Amino acid sequence: MEFYVCNKCGKIIGKKSEIIKEDFIHIKKQWGYFSEKDGEIHEFSLCEKCYDEILKGFKVPADISEAKEVM
Ligand SMILES: [Zn+2]
Repeated sequence: MEFYVCNKCGKIIGKKSEIIKEDFIHIKKQWGYFSEKDGEIHEFSLCEKCYDEILKGFKVPADISEAKEVM
């Protein structure tokens, strides 16, 4: 696909060949032997709004810390 699309809400995040002025999550996961999906590659994107909604559903909150400025 030519665009990054939020898989949850369907919003177009940006064109893959251009600079995307919106931050988002992109996950690509190759499942391994100890899963029921051995060898499958799953790939999806989430916009920031949908990411926030998913985080709200966590029983144990995600670890959030400040990024250190690299000198
Ligand atoms: Zn979304």
